[in-house]
Amino acid sequence: MSKKIMVTESALPPFDEYVDEIKDIWDTHWLTNMGPKHEKFRAELKDYLGVERIELVTNGHMALEMTLQAMNLHGEVITTPFTFSSTTHAIVRNGLEPVFCDIDPKDFTIDVTKIEDLITDRTEAILPVHVYGNICNVEEIERIGEKYGLKVIYDAAHAFGCAYKGIGIGSFGDASCFSFHATKVFNTVEGGAVCHNSYELGRRIYMLKNFGIRDAESVIGVGANAKMNELCAAMGLCNLRRIDETIDLRRGAAEQYRSRLAEIPGLQLNPVQENVETNYSYFPVVFDEKIFGSSRNEVAKALERENIFARKYFYPLTNTYECYDKRFNPDLTPVARHISKRVLTLPLYPALEGEDIDRICDVIISCRAKS
Ligand SMILES: *Cc1c(COP(=O)(O)O)cnc(C)c1O
Repeated sequence: MSKKIMVTESALPPFDEYVDEIKDIWDTHWLTNMGPKHEKFRAELKDYLGVERIELVTNGHMALEMTLQAMNLHGEVITTPFTFSSTTHAIVRNGLEPVFCDIDPKDFTIDVTKIEDLITDRTEAILPVHVYGNICNVEEIERIGEKYGLKVIYDAAHAFGCAYKGIGIGSFGDASCFSFHATKVFNTVEGGAVCHNSYELGRRIYMLKNFGIRDAESVIGVGANAKMNELCAAMGLCNLRRIDETIDLRRGAAEQYRSRLAEIPGLQLNPVQENVETNYSYFPVVFDEKIFGSSRNEVAKALERENIFARKYFYPLTNTYECYDKRFNPDLTPVARHISKRVLTLPLYPALEGEDIDRICDVIISCRAKS
């Protein structure tokens, strides 16, 4: 059987470098609760992302959940169903009502021409997603947010290291939430961060991630526990040293895919967005069965037979989940549904070799109609 290829492979620093980074923890015994690694990582990250303020948390999901809680929102949040479960769950778990907006068929981010029609007197925020490292139309979203007095919170879990017109993507909106999960472009094993520009919001998130404790004798918020520990922060310090190289290697892989697949009828590749520096976090391909000759599911099966595991990101749509028990109507987001049934994200990670990519492309091309 040929080598097994998964959709991604978690980035790890050289073993000795990590051991070196965590050595002093064995002197201090400081394992969590905003220790020196946490503070050093926080400062370096703020610098790298080019943001005004940043709070570190246990994972990307808690970044979203704590941000919504810290903003003390009620009512409706406009978002998209073409995302990971976390985005929608974070809204619902805060007692808020997600209102699903359709997506742009070319870059899969929220369709900004459809947001205003969904605004009601109960709308309080917009929560768009920078899907696959594709950047939302941040200028138009800012205009709408200001016009209607809505908070804008970006799910930037796919967008670590991305920039728009040279500005770090974490600087847009009232807050941007990153994930440092093992499978993301940049990881701290598990981890996440909220980037923002408000002293008050930062104070509230800092408090909420530590049980709402203000000081030893006063608890002023119904918080949770979402603190990043020292071992995760140390992993972040190590992985951050290599992030530019990581993204360069991803670019190379994405370019090779593009050169092999761009001219094939019936395949829609991820777009190259103007004014955007992407991080090449995923390489989605949308299969038009009528033109290409095979469906997304057939291609996924053909790849599996060759020990290659692509993923159907994002299928199913979050507005069709069983747990929501038909509460939402997916007919209202037809573009998202169309893409969701046809998209496959191909393996992409720094150590993926040129010959692996050729093998993957060969299998895909072999699925073409022979007519
Ligand atoms: C990964 C991811 C999250 C959640 O991040 P975790 O760190 O896994 O909690 C949220 N939104 C999107 C779009 C993601 O891909």
